[in-house]
Amino acid sequence: MDEILGAGGQVICKPWVARNGKSFAKGDFKLNLRDFTITCPAGETERIKFGSVVEFDPEACDHCRLRANCTVAGIGSGRTVAIAENERLQHKLRKLQKTRVGRAKLRERVGVEHRLAHLARRQGRRARYRGVRKNLFDLRRACAIQNLETIQRKAA
Ligand code: SF4
Repeated sequence: MDEILGAGGQVICKPWVARNGKSFAKGDFKLNLRDFTITCPAGETERIKFGSVVEFDPEACDHCRLRANCTVAGIGSGRTVAIAENERLQHKLRKLQKTRVGRAKLRERVGVEHRLAHLARRQGRRARYRGVRKNLFDLRRACAIQNLETIQRKAA
């Protein structure tokens, strides 16, 4: 992904969804990527660093009225939230998904993803041959068959 972005490309995909059982998910926390802070549902704020895990002040968590909904950590430990290395990209993708334009862009992927899923079903998840050249040939063969099937279906 970094390669694509580095070359000036665009990444359009659904953002990762961080779940946390019945406790508050990461999405319930407010990330501020300008100030590099995260604010929990009770209003406690901590500083963040990409590619690290932030722990909220254990003392604040110990006395928090929302603790039961937030963490299963023992008393003396604060709630932790993992901050991804590519948090900025994830944040952008989450925002994009909330807009009409963003959702339309995501829908553009559907056609391609369906074709890829058909190919994966035909080919399986493992390469059949040793070496890139033979496998590329095999993939093109599978694509050609799939295209012929599509043409036949549309012609019928
Ligand atoms: S338990 Fe801690 S992190 Fe969770 S809401 Fe309360 S103060 Fe915030």
